Amino acid sequence: MLQKTHSVAGLVSAEVVLVWQDVSFLSWEAAGALLLGCLAGTLADVDKPGSTMAKVLFPLSALLHVLKVRHRTVTHSLLVIALIMLAAGPLPTLFYWTLVVGYVSHPLIDLLNDKGVQLLWPIPGKVRLLPKWLAITTGSTGETVFRALLFVISLGIPLLLVVQRFS
Ligand SMILES: [Zn+2]
Repeated sequence: MLQKTHSVAGLVSAEVVLVWQDVSFLSWEAAGALLLGCLAGTLADVDKPGSTMAKVLFPLSALLHVLKVRHRTVTHSLLVIALIMLAAGPLPTLFYWTLVVGYVSHPLIDLLNDKGVQLLWPIPGKVRLLPKWLAITTGSTGETVFRALLFVISLGIPLLLVVQRFS
C-alpha cells in the first residue's frame, strides 16, 4: 500500500486508542497521539528503498539494505511488533498504545495487498488475507477506494463523539 494509505490507517488507529483511553480529542496529548499514529502507520516501510520512512530513518534503511532485507518481511513481522512493544515500554500509556496500534495497522492492511506479508518472519512464506482477484494492488483504484473508506472512518469517529456528547 502507498504511504498515504498507511498514514490514514495510522490516524484511525490513533483515534481508536484515544476513544479507548478516553482522552479528549481537543487536547495537546491527542494532537501528539494523532501525529504519532500517522508516523507509526508508515514506519514499517523503512524496508522499502525510496520511501519517505527510508529517507527519514536513513541509517536504519541503509542497514536493512546492506543486510539484504526484502520489502514486507522483517519490519512487517510479528517478531518486530513484539520487539517494538518491549522497546516502547517506558512511554506513557497513550503514546505506547498509539505507537503499537499504529505500527500494527501497517502489516494488517498490507495483508489485504496482493503481494502479502511475511508475517511469521523468519519462517518463510507470505500471508495474504484476500484471494488474489480480490486483493488490493498498490496504487490501484481499489487502494484509492480503500483509502477513501479509511478517511471517512477517520472523520466519522470524532463526529460520532460530538453527536454523542450533544444527544
Ligand atoms: Zn508495507
